[in-house]
Amino acid sequence: SSAPPRFLSQAADLTIERNTAGKPKPDPASLVFGKQFSDHMLTVYWSEKEGWKVPQIKPFQNLSLHPATSALHYSIELFEGMKAFRGVDNHIRLFRPNLNMERMHRTAERSCLPLFDKVELLECIRKLVEVDQDWVPYSLDASLYIRPTYIGIEPSLGVSRASQALLFCIVGPVGPYFTTGAFSPVSLLADPSYVRAWRGGVGAYKMGGNYGPTIAVQNEAIKQGCQQVLWLYGEQEEITEVGTMNLFIYWTNEGGERELLTPPLDGIILPGVTRQSLLDLAREWGEFKVTERTMGMKELLGALDSGRITEVFGAGTACVVCPVGSLLYKGKTYQIPTMQNGPDLAKRFHKELTDMQYGRKQSEWAPLV
Ligand code: PMP
Repeated sequence: SSAPPRFLSQAADLTIERNTAGKPKPDPASLVFGKQFSDHMLTVYWSEKEGWKVPQIKPFQNLSLHPATSALHYSIELFEGMKAFRGVDNHIRLFRPNLNMERMHRTAERSCLPLFDKVELLECIRKLVEVDQDWVPYSLDASLYIRPTYIGIEPSLGVSRASQALLFCIVGPVGPYFTTGAFSPVSLLADPSYVRAWRGGVGAYKMGGNYGPTIAVQNEAIKQGCQQVLWLYGEQEEITEVGTMNLFIYWTNEGGERELLTPPLDGIILPGVTRQSLLDLAREWGEFKVTERTMGMKELLGALDSGRITEVFGAGTACVVCPVGSLLYKGKTYQIPTMQNGPDLAKRFHKELTDMQYGRKQSEWAPLV
């Protein structure tokens, strides 16, 4: 039928079933990303027949899925990644969560999954964090990772729009990205024979299908002595992203201007919340040029050779910023002087964002839970 989809029902209707057998909280120092989960989860079921069911917060538990579930066969799956932080004032904050809701909504649309009310979903997630608030680490370099997930659960093998769907959210404590406390630079494998995303494809959306195929390439990078992959694209070998981070270059451009450059959102780049935040901050500072444009490997290596590259770093929720120290390209290793240059800009971005996240600086970007 052509009836408009019913949006995610009111967060106010949400039911809460408390877990009476809570797990002990792990020591923040021993956390491994994505392996520990809290005591509760959020689920919201949808079907074409009945629309959205009432959102439920309930004890963390396995899902029961039909073996023909479309998410398992055709990757009708999408997710988000965000964090809750316990601040210096013991209050819990999120970071620009509306941007995650917008990205999730765009990805749902591209996945033909029913659309939802972004404000209502965020309110459900906020309530989940509130219920599991003791799981937000009492630490100024750990946080609670939040994983909203949305899957098609159509119990049939037809390649078609799912008539049943499940939106759920799980959360778990995560430690600092840099275990030593200080920035440590990563080495990258830049091999143009691998492609993460392509124009006309879905690289700009946070779909599970974009991530599974990258694992073999990441393993190849490790095998070649590198830590992560620099994803290249096309004839110009455009530099696009680093692992699961957006890429930034701070340099002196061909016109002699100081410039912060990142690839544009032209369909092959995931629109990162951190990326947007660094661009917003740098434009607000107004101290150097801020540019979104493509750069090919040839131009990057030329600039590196003439000493015009100051810092290269990745940007994402996991680490905020992650300095790049070297590049392995066509059998040759190129050193990048990011660490030798501070990295002043990367450190400044890191401080700005973490000051907001941990409540050292009040900001509209970091709303209280
Ligand atoms: N690029 C890719 C491919 C990613 O998966 C992520 C993580 N979501 C990012 C960039 C960084 O995005 P964000 O700043 O929203 O974490």
